[in-house]
Amino acid sequence: MAQQSMRGMRLGSESFESARGVTLSPRNTHLYRCAKEHVSEMIFADEAEVPTAWPCKSCSLEAALLDTDGNQAFATELPKAPRTHFEMLLERRSREELEEILTERLDELKARRKRGQADATNN
Ligand SMILES: [Zn+2]
Repeated sequence: MAQQSMRGMRLGSESFESARGVTLSPRNTHLYRCAKEHVSEMIFADEAEVPTAWPCKSCSLEAALLDTDGNQAFATELPKAPRTHFEMLLERRSREELEEILTERLDELKARRKRGQADATNN
């Protein structure tokens, strides 16, 4: 009967907001690592099929499932971490060249500042 099936729900008598009295289903923690070496912890139900890849919690790159030794559990091909502007700069110029350019620019700035033309004085 419809009335009987409604009786089971004791509305208001028990809060579902706290975990008290709630039995959690068995679950397992799994670790994933992305190309930037971030490790994300994910919890899955015991009976769930664990995905071999998951988005990194830190950078949202795809991260690969790790085994208990911290190695990739499967041969998951991870997308490369996008290069930063600095890394791209280092591909075009050596550190010595960059140091040279920096020194040059700083000298130029100092000279301009002495003449009262530096941008910084406009602030
Ligand atoms: Zn990451």
